[in-house]
Amino acid sequence: MADETIEWPTYVLGLAKGHWITFRTMFKKRTTQYYPEQKEPTAPRYHGRHQLNRHPDGLEKCVGCELCAWACPADAIYVEGADNTEAERYSPGERYGSVYQINYLRCIFCGLCIEACPTRALTMTNEYELADDSRQDLIFTKEQLLAPLMPGMEQPPHPRRLADSEKEYYLGVFSLSIVPSDPTVEGRNPASTRTRDEALAPGENAS
Ligand code: SF4
Ligand code: SF4
Repeated sequence: MADETIEWPTYVLGLAKGHWITFRTMFKKRTTQYYPEQKEPTAPRYHGRHQLNRHPDGLEKCVGCELCAWACPADAIYVEGADNTEAERYSPGERYGSVYQINYLRCIFCGLCIEACPTRALTMTNEYELADDSRQDLIFTKEQLLAPLMPGMEQPPHPRRLADSEKEYYLGVFSLSIVPSDPTVEGRNPASTRTRDEALAPGENAS
């Protein structure tokens, strides 16, 4: 038969330790967050919703190469590339992403896709509110993922508007005071002289 004798000093010490932890915690600063009424800022390089970025004249940076889709361990990205034509140009190079989808039911926000992207077309924003009650609505389309048009940008398709050569265009060696005239873009600032870094779309972070 097992010895059931209680070792009182050990028992009392254990009890006192447990109560001390509870007592000590009562005086610590509370970390309760009143979400969603009060939203805490995320870390600057937080991996949130993706964004498809644009060049400063509005053309798309995505070239439809599918490297992001191949890099994705969760098979969350679907891309179809297509050829630009002189009459209908969406990106400055030969190809563009005609279909682009990210399935946020699959995505684990690992960031491997943005590492794989050769043109920095794909980055991640700090937006984290992605819950929905519809599976279909969590498959984001290209239109939802594209960065908004900033002042001085023009909705594609259109020819390359900035720089004399492709090299200067990709290196950002041009003046943003030369902007296209597109009356369909609200909030356009024709005298815009943004620097190349300032031309990053809202929410585009350094991830
Ligand atoms: S963050 Fe990771 S899981 Fe999500 S789409 Fe990119 S590679 Fe796939
Ligand atoms: S987002 Fe980047 S990696 Fe993905 S298809 Fe476009 S250019 Fe290629």
